[in-house]
Amino acid sequence: MNLSTSVSEIPRIGPVYQRKLKRLGIKTVRDLLFHFPHRYEDFSNIKDISSLKINEDCCIKGTIKEISNARTWKKRMILTKAIVQDQTGAAEIIWFNQPYLAKTIKKGDLLALAGRMTLGKKSVYISNPAYEKLGLAGSGQDTMTHMGRIVPVYPETEGLSSRWLRFIIKPALINLKNSISDPLPKRLIEKEKLLTLSESLWQAHFPDSLELAKKAKERFSFEELFNIAVLTLRMRFRIAGHKAPAIPLNLGLIQEFVGSLSYKLTDAQRKSAWNILKDMEKPRPMNRLLEGDVGSGKTVVAAMAAINAIKAGYQTAIMAPTEILAKQHFKTFSELFSDFKTDMGLLTGKEDKLISKKLKNDVVEISRERLLEKAKSGELPLLIGTHTLIQSKVKFGKLALVILDEQHRFGVEQRARLCQGYGGQTKLLPHLLSMTATPIPRTLALTLYGDLDLSLIDSLPKGRKKIMTKVVEPKKRNDAYRFIKEKVNEGRQVFVICPRIEPAKTPEENLGGQDSKKDVFGWAEAKSVKDEHEKLSKKIFPDLKIDMLHGKMKPKEKEKIMRNFKNKKIDILVSTSVIEVGIDIPNAAVMIIEGAERFGLAQLHQLRGRVGRSKYQSYCFLFTDSKNKKTIQRLQALIKSENSFELAEKDLKIRGPGDFTGARQWGIPDLIMDSLTNMPLVQKTKEVAKEILEKDPGLKNYPSLLKRVEELEKIVHLE
Ligand code: ADP
Ligand code: MG
Repeated sequence: MNLSTSVSEIPRIGPVYQRKLKRLGIKTVRDLLFHFPHRYEDFSNIKDISSLKINEDCCIKGTIKEISNARTWKKRMILTKAIVQDQTGAAEIIWFNQPYLAKTIKKGDLLALAGRMTLGKKSVYISNPAYEKLGLAGSGQDTMTHMGRIVPVYPETEGLSSRWLRFIIKPALINLKNSISDPLPKRLIEKEKLLTLSESLWQAHFPDSLELAKKAKERFSFEELFNIAVLTLRMRFRIAGHKAPAIPLNLGLIQEFVGSLSYKLTDAQRKSAWNILKDMEKPRPMNRLLEGDVGSGKTVVAAMAAINAIKAGYQTAIMAPTEILAKQHFKTFSELFSDFKTDMGLLTGKEDKLISKKLKNDVVEISRERLLEKAKSGELPLLIGTHTLIQSKVKFGKLALVILDEQHRFGVEQRARLCQGYGGQTKLLPHLLSMTATPIPRTLALTLYGDLDLSLIDSLPKGRKKIMTKVVEPKKRNDAYRFIKEKVNEGRQVFVICPRIEPAKTPEENLGGQDSKKDVFGWAEAKSVKDEHEKLSKKIFPDLKIDMLHGKMKPKEKEKIMRNFKNKKIDILVSTSVIEVGIDIPNAAVMIIEGAERFGLAQLHQLRGRVGRSKYQSYCFLFTDSKNKKTIQRLQALIKSENSFELAEKDLKIRGPGDFTGARQWGIPDLIMDSLTNMPLVQKTKEVAKEILEKDPGLKNYPSLLKRVEELEKIVHLE
């Protein structure tokens, strides 16, 4: 057995358990061992039965004197009663509704038991204790997995009990004890006084003390942050090792371009544009993330960079996540550059188009071959497309700038692949500008996007109408529906966002979302797209055009529905929160969010940003059944604040980093997610990573570290 062994090869894990584990993302022994407990229970102190006190948690060790099942007088419940005895005395035990225990536990068995002494109506007993059979007397405490020690408690999901997990994890740990190689350099472990990997795994699952459990957690935090630091720094170094065309900033041109706009740039737009244009003057590839809210005007900033490159004789490529967005950019850029006589091409899945100044800026169809030829020869200054840009055989003759919309990363190889032997001997890489509307809190960005420089557009253009936001309680639902009807009659369109695609089948499935761990039971079932679609189209608005959209649909189908919505063939679109980022539906003026308590603030803010993009007054209704004061407060924060970065920081404080785009992607275990925002540790690991990489950029002396970093690289890169 080694870390990459499949869990299916572990004895006692049959197909049923394999499926359950898979649902938790556990496929290999490594995944299993990195499935950490979320807390511990201290059963280390075994007490004498004679010393037990009422209402006190206890752990005892004794022999079963008798055990049998009985029904309660109401005949509704089966009680398993037993008597356990040690040298000091005897105690009664009652288990509720677990009749099989009378078969598994036999008279004469030596057991460790942990539970609470309870004062019942007729007697004092230990109720529902956890137990562990100890084999024959004299076998000693060290064989105990569930008792007589600090025991791990795992998040119990998918019908996997902590008991079962302990039962599986412990032998695996023992089996691997001497064969786990530590990816952290030995000198580093010594210098930072960290536990080794195998010791940390052991102490994380079966700690000798809570102090050691904490040390184990610290080691994993250090390791994750260190890996991220090595990866991002390595990308930075690797890119810095390349050259890029230095494009002089043409101030006259930029002034002319800005003057041609029908509005004034905001300060934040100016500053971002300046940073970008200054970056591109250097002969090193730019690697910059432009963060700004939906509607903050990132496109025009990107356009400034593009026109500067284009007029200096270079090419620019723009890559959008979907066809609709690519087309939207094509249209926007043709308008922005209409005074600047620029040819541009659109390369999507099926329709390829060209705008040519020779043809008076008319849009013409063009064959794929012709378009690719023009790109390759360097003749076409601007090409806009989807993923097809990197997937097909697109090559550019003089590519100087790649603009990514809503995709954060692009490796050196991917950039190089776009370029056609350009720059002679020293292969030049294009500059990279990545745009995102996801408000990644700065603290998180410094860690996860350490390889990118950041520009923020943190304010919206002036004169935008404020979106009226309201928290709607259940009894006001009908009023809200009446309001929607009115708005649709006025010609507006409506989004309805639900937390789930399909109705939940089990209570566990219904979990998830903001307060799930603390406040599950107060909740009504999470609304699903399918149910709501049915309800709205059949019962509430039978005369309106209603459709739905969710992530399980095929991309083609999704695009068709978005197109229909854009073309006003749909009045109300019921959807999950994954509706296309950045899509512009100016006519949509009402955003309904069902089960609002299940979304993070930043996400709610993002969703709200889909409306309010036109002259019409827009509205956002947050539907919630939650009566939890904190939840309501959290939602109220959204009403007050309009700054997404502020909200994202707030969210980060309340919910931790786990829910942010990018954080999950790294596959960091929940237990150490919090460390992502531990700034001193982030700083420390960065320094250490830098030291190592400066001496050994190829990580030749650190084979297992290299392996780990390369695995991570695959995950975070767009490949
Ligand atoms: P996003 O950052 O979401 O990509 P866009 O670039 O699509 O935002 O801009 C949204 C809208 O705001 C566009 O219609 C654009 O023309 C407009 N816009 C951009 N900058 C300004 C500004 N400074 N003042 C007024 N309107 C602006
Ligand atoms: Mg955009």
